[in-house]
Amino acid sequence: MPTPSFTFECISNTVIAENIHELEFTKPEGIEFTEGQFLLLDVPLIGNTEDIQPRAYSIASSPNDETLLFVIKLVPDGRASTWVKEEVKQGTQTRIQCPFGKFVLDTETSKEYVMMCTSTGIAPFRSQLRTILPKGETRKIDLFFGLLNEEEIFWEEELKELVNQYPNFSYHISVGDPESSFDGFKGYVQQHAAEVITDFSNKQIYICGAPIMAKSVKQEAIETWGVAKEDVHMEGFI
Ligand SMILES: Cc1cc2nc3c(=O)[nH]c(=O)nc-3n(C[C@H](O)[C@H](O)[C@H](O)COP(=O)(O)OP(=O)(O)OC[C@H]3O[C@@H](n4cnc5c(N)ncnc54)[C@H](O)[C@@H]3O)c2cc1C
Repeated sequence: MPTPSFTFECISNTVIAENIHELEFTKPEGIEFTEGQFLLLDVPLIGNTEDIQPRAYSIASSPNDETLLFVIKLVPDGRASTWVKEEVKQGTQTRIQCPFGKFVLDTETSKEYVMMCTSTGIAPFRSQLRTILPKGETRKIDLFFGLLNEEEIFWEEELKELVNQYPNFSYHISVGDPESSFDGFKGYVQQHAAEVITDFSNKQIYICGAPIMAKSVKQEAIETWGVAKEDVHMEGFI
């Protein structure tokens, strides 16, 4: 069966950090997805709306939310990046196909969650956290959020609110190349995780972000931390 397609409309397009846009869209009637999945969005070429190409974006809102939320990192000269930066505003409509992907939480195991991401790789985790925590998930959840520098940090207030509301949830920010005044963790997400978590035997790992990072964290999880292959899940933002 072909994946259903819908039209949605932009509600807001906000710059929330350096080169990072948060986009909220209307949620079309009948759309269905599981937290962690992505959709394909039709992106027109600026200056020629007949020239359309799809781009994949993870849905950052929960299936229970009233709207669809995305977080998009602009890349130089990228088609979607230029469209988001220059064209998308309240009222912009486009076609989407949804849902896609298997980056969903494994409900067959009772192991605790370790979520590891860089930059906009946090999107599917936001969807998952906003779905499972209000539903009463009580097992421990650690989110490791890696960024290049302090200017790229976003959604920290929201993460703090989740920590205050749900004692089983913690988040850990790592910055790769901070200013000298930065007093948080300096380095890669996997270095941070290895420092915070001393025993991975009861953990399942979810990794999302740049493919190079995702592959190297996956390898480290299996080979160094001893996590079983079936407990390591990844989504690379190719
Ligand atoms: C499952 C999945 C989920 C994703 N979710 C997200 C998400 O939530 N947030 C997010 O930010 N991203 C996400 N991505 C990445 C996203 O799909 C896009 O790849 C990203 O936004 C860049 O798209 P673009 O159209 O701006 O760049 P593109 O036009 O695809 O270009 C990418 C890069 O290639 C260069 N390039 C393009 N054409 C050429 C050429 N002919 N020769 C040489 N270089 C070229 C561009 O300069 C640019 O730097 C996801 C990807 C996948 C696979």
